[in-house]
Amino acid sequence: MFFMSLPSVLVIEDEPDILSLVSHHLQLAGFTALQALTGGDGLKLARSQKPSLVILDLMLPDTSGQEVFRQLKADPATHSVPVLMLTARAAETDRVQGLELGADDYVTKPFSPRELILRVKGILRRVHPEEARVHEAGHLKLDLDQHRATWKGKELLLTVTEFSLLVQLIKNRGRVQTRESLLNQVWGYTYYGGSRTVDTHVRRLREKLGPANEYIETVRGVGYRFMAPSESA
Ligand code: CA
Repeated sequence: MFFMSLPSVLVIEDEPDILSLVSHHLQLAGFTALQALTGGDGLKLARSQKPSLVILDLMLPDTSGQEVFRQLKADPATHSVPVLMLTARAAETDRVQGLELGADDYVTKPFSPRELILRVKGILRRVHPEEARVHEAGHLKLDLDQHRATWKGKELLLTVTEFSLLVQLIKNRGRVQTRESLLNQVWGYTYYGGSRTVDTHVRRLREKLGPANEYIETVRGVGYRFMAPSESA
């Protein structure tokens, strides 16, 4: 199962029915859904997976949604992740609390899944209006919408995984990506294959990249880094 660098949404909700309903609708809308039944698990997943957005229920068994929210915002790894709160009641205090804390939006239960998805998309559009759909480095060009990689205008025949791997590297250009992080982002967090999988795919990717293979730098013992020619000078 390959996840094509789809935006991922983490749902922290202790009611299994709602959790699976929301996840199902997220998947239908093209998102990767990450699930947590407790605040503690949610925080762990948020830190390790860096989702595009968190849907956070205010009433959780182990710790309150407010506390989870505070911890998300206090951690440099997660503080910029937008949060949509689920409030149990239409009570004014809940709404005010959620928004006063700085949540990006809230939805009151019971809600229509379709409405929830619209809100999620709305937040993501506000937060990432400039999300690049085309990445360029030297003569290498990646078009995320067309799913095409070209070198000097000539298409490179990459597999889905190779393309996804290259997208992940180029999006984080200049920064080292560990094998574990690449496994998580490209193969999905439930993938338990070894990090050698990453090396194998990077090797094949480099073979297909021609001169652009030099842009992918091996950082010994850690992982890989994408460096365009002008950046490595
Ligand atoms: Ca709840």
